[in-house]
Amino acid sequence: MSAEAANPGAHSRRRGRPRIDLRRLGRAALLGPTTRDRLPDAIGHVAEAHRAHHPEADLAILHRAYVLAESSHRGQFRKSGEAYITHPLAVTLILAELGAETTTLTASLLHDTVEDTEVTLDQVRTEFGAEVCYLVDGVTKLEKVDYGAAAEPETFRKMLVATGNDVRVMSIKLADRLHNMRTLGVMRPEKQVRIANVTRDVLIPLAERLGVQALKTELEDLVFAILHPEEYERTRALIADNASAWDALDAIAEKFRAVLRDARIAAEVHIRPRHFVSVHRSRLKRGELRGTDFGRLLVLVGEDADCYGVLGELHTCFTPVISEFKDFIAAPKFNLYQSLHTAVAGPDGAVAEVLIRTHQMHKVAEAGVIALGNPYVPPEGAAGPEPADGERADPTRPGWLSRLLDWQQSTPDPDTFWTSLRAELAQDREITVFRADGGALGLPAGASCVDAAYAQYGEEAHACIGARVNGRLATLSTVLSDGDTVHLLLAQDVQDTASGPSPDWLDHARTPAARIAITTWLTAHPEGTNVAAAAPRRPAPLTADRRAAANAVVDLPDATVRLAGCCTPVPPDSVTGFAVRGGTVTVHREECPAVARMKSLDREPIPVRWGDAAECRVTLIAESFGRPRLLADLTEAIAVEGAAIVSATVEPPSQQRVRHTYTLQLPDAAGLPALMRAMRDVPGVYDVSRAQHPAATA
Ligand code: MN
Repeated sequence: MSAEAANPGAHSRRRGRPRIDLRRLGRAALLGPTTRDRLPDAIGHVAEAHRAHHPEADLAILHRAYVLAESSHRGQFRKSGEAYITHPLAVTLILAELGAETTTLTASLLHDTVEDTEVTLDQVRTEFGAEVCYLVDGVTKLEKVDYGAAAEPETFRKMLVATGNDVRVMSIKLADRLHNMRTLGVMRPEKQVRIANVTRDVLIPLAERLGVQALKTELEDLVFAILHPEEYERTRALIADNASAWDALDAIAEKFRAVLRDARIAAEVHIRPRHFVSVHRSRLKRGELRGTDFGRLLVLVGEDADCYGVLGELHTCFTPVISEFKDFIAAPKFNLYQSLHTAVAGPDGAVAEVLIRTHQMHKVAEAGVIALGNPYVPPEGAAGPEPADGERADPTRPGWLSRLLDWQQSTPDPDTFWTSLRAELAQDREITVFRADGGALGLPAGASCVDAAYAQYGEEAHACIGARVNGRLATLSTVLSDGDTVHLLLAQDVQDTASGPSPDWLDHARTPAARIAITTWLTAHPEGTNVAAAAPRRPAPLTADRRAAANAVVDLPDATVRLAGCCTPVPPDSVTGFAVRGGTVTVHREECPAVARMKSLDREPIPVRWGDAAECRVTLIAESFGRPRLLADLTEAIAVEGAAIVSATVEPPSQQRVRHTYTLQLPDAAGLPALMRAMRDVPGVYDVSRAQHPAATA
């Protein structure tokens, strides 16, 4: 039997979500389906969780899959003595709670039938279709790869071959492993250790790469408990002794709510406990932990732009810890994770970490690829009036898979997602290098000084000119080894665009953070390079160049100026600025709703004007009637006007009409009216307008 474990053991726990009593599921499963019309309780929990995410879902196929799985596993038992069916049920429930779609759940119910019972793949294909059959087959093959294997690149290669291009196979595998880990308690200790090691080396990195945070954190804690029982116990006691930590976080959360209410931003403020491994890591890093270190504040809002609104308010009303600020919305992580991270200090000096994201970002942060649904159909609502998150289906490629592929193409490599993922997964464990100031950087093996520079300095690394490795001068291409000390040398004048990254840095950058930052800079500075013609396609969220600084735009010398991401002002728009804490001025278009909101809150507008216009970035929407060569003619018109295409999105035609969204880099903002005229002159185009939100819906 492929999954041997038993007993909802001492380590099984899931915070913040109601747990289903697996023993009760066991009994319900043993009793089997009782009536013809009603779902038995066991599958009822799954159905309920599934309906919560997908109200329209057809539950009949789940019922049929359950009946087949239950009858074929009947008479088989887990080591704990529970009916075997409790395992596929629990695995399916995990996936249903994360929002997996119906096909995944159907395959999950059946995932051990072909391996362990009389059921054949042909039978699964006949009764449930080719897609379910493909997934069950993939999981069965994975089962064979994974057992007894170590974290060899070969293991990952085999896993990827087994799953083909379908991440849903891996989703099922991860949930399968989570349930087996939760119930590992009855196994012999040496077997527990062996399984925990494989989980640490193979499954956790996989969960991380696929962005399935909810599974990753629980797996980490379960592994921690088995491999480091003493540290685990110490951490558990530490958390128990600091129960009053919640008071500190509660007090800050309450203040946040008041501030956001006053600012009229609709937001939910939650307290998120850190998982055990996270508390343990913080303790190693910081020594003594304070109350606010045991959790983080999570602020959930409706719209992308609200994230920045919340950030502005919090940074205004509390003291921000600037070094903790990270914008994973403008520059999302490889695994699709998006959030703003910051930390603020309360009046008593206690620092609280804060995550700010939309509900949709939260779903993706928790469930990663599982939340993105079936890769072979367009995202839900794509044809509806209001796509959930501004993402559009590319008609030439299926659903979110294309977005993952786009992700990889935000680097200039033509590599597909899978090639890159394979390379990523096949890397050795992380290396640690030491910074000149004694701090440490975790990098993937094979990382160079370029990677270290971006890991340490973020965008300031654009000004990096060289490095000392272990005291010796070294080129930026130098590959680092575990334990090296790296001292990065930065040009003093960061403003000098000529001192920016060179295209060949991309040859030496392994980390997505470095590659994305370099590509973004190169795209924004085409004059210094030859890459403009080959500007890479990027997905919608990246086209919002929220970090672009305006040139000479404000009447305050020395002020740092940011163009607001919500309305992307360009000359000659009328603009208004508002000071945010730290001397930064955020500039909005006059008609941007944020301006009215700020004024209604008695925030003092700061007069701003455009300086000598320089290059600018703008998002344009072209509405047209579909016809052959339309795309070619539009892009040619854009090129003739001297603009570079940073990204382009073409929606599937609807009623003969198509909508193209372009984010363009103009050498001179004054050329915008002429550019829009030229685009309107393309036959078939009946309107060209500025996007209110960058590359989002109109
Ligand atoms: Mn299983």
